[in-house]
Amino acid sequence: MGRDGLKDLIRTVPDFPSPGIQFRDITTLLADAEGLAASVDMLAELASDLRVDKVAGVEARGFIFGTALAIRLGKGFVPLRKANKLPVECIGEDYALEYGEARLELDPSIITADENVLLVDDLLATGGTALAGARLLRRAGAMVSHALFVIELPELGGAQALADAGLEAKALLQ
Ligand code: IMP
Repeated sequence: MGRDGLKDLIRTVPDFPSPGIQFRDITTLLADAEGLAASVDMLAELASDLRVDKVAGVEARGFIFGTALAIRLGKGFVPLRKANKLPVECIGEDYALEYGEARLELDPSIITADENVLLVDDLLATGGTALAGARLLRRAGAMVSHALFVIELPELGGAQALADAGLEAKALLQ
């Protein structure tokens, strides 16, 4: 399956979670065996020339692609969790979303100093989420230079915001 086939598996839901937002829903992609496998294959292809010690994913949809990619690359997975989920002392970053506010948290003890951590999420919009994730990982001592996404919404300028913070963004679909 190519990228056009992948795009056809993504559902657009108007006015979710608030009026005027066109929500790109990957539920339909995940449920398609060929599409799911192809998306992980393509992410692995994007990661093939990168130095990766661990893969980090953003809760919740970044866990799906991030874990699959980590297994494919033979690496461990680092969950970037929503607030108040971790049972141990953690570090956190607050950030603004396209709609609302959020917080990501990380157990810094699972990062070894100077490891290369590849950030993964389902979708790049303004970049606020990925930047918060990168800040957390860097505070824990990781080197974070690349972030992979299934979908990028180019009109929201996320890739430039990430580039300004030294993070190169790559996405399967725009
Ligand atoms: P950003 O922080 O503005 O880049 O927004 C990206 C985050 O919001 C990611 O964690 C996405 O899962 C989520 N998100 C924003 N818009 C959408 C959408 O249209 N579909 C699915 N997830 C979205």
